[in-house]
Amino acid sequence: MTLYIATSNPGKLRDFAIAAGDRIHIRPLPGLQDIPAPAEDEPTFTGNAIAKALAYSRHAPGLIVLADDSGLEVDALHGAPGVRSARYAEDLAFSDHLADTTDARNNLCLLQALAATPDTNHTARYHCVLAAARDGQLLSTADGNVEGQIIATPRGTSGFGYDPLFYLPHLHRTMAELDPATRLQLSHRGRALSALLLILNAKTPLA
Ligand code: IMP
Repeated sequence: MTLYIATSNPGKLRDFAIAAGDRIHIRPLPGLQDIPAPAEDEPTFTGNAIAKALAYSRHAPGLIVLADDSGLEVDALHGAPGVRSARYAEDLAFSDHLADTTDARNNLCLLQALAATPDTNHTARYHCVLAAARDGQLLSTADGNVEGQIIATPRGTSGFGYDPLFYLPHLHRTMAELDPATRLQLSHRGRALSALLLILNAKTPLA
């Protein structure tokens, strides 16, 4: 059985493919680059993932199409940056002459926001929601988390996004200090896919 995911991001594809195992094949949705990208302006991860899965599945008759939305939720910031994780600094018009990439600006913006809160417990999670649809009909959604804490000083150089600030207390490392195999084991995307496959399989055995 093959499921088609609406992403061309090789890192995401790898996370999903490894979580799917040997019997389910995860492939990029054919012709993705020619399909107009739906807006990602829903207030929740689930809303965005569903909107994308429904829209892309209308362009791929008969195929099961998966779409995801993910981001970072920080408890002391009431779940921010959340669905706006990719555009956090931009939304807050944050700039800093030392930050020359979107990731660097987002990270500095996050540290500034946390410094302004009285809270010293900076628990956080990466959250991923996956939606599956076929022919414009929603089949199911599922989510996956990885829990951690935001630290005040970035550590490590692997990964992307908020990884240098995302600390895993049980491993004594940030995400950006982990080797790729350990990162994959922890992946919120992988966990969301495993949960989604269980639900889809319970409805109709996939393989
Ligand atoms: P996307 O919409 O799933 O591509 O992710 C939105 C944003 O969430 C990314 O641009 C990152 O800032 C953040 N994010 C999601 N997953 C991760 C991760 O595994 N590591 C670091 N940042 C992540």
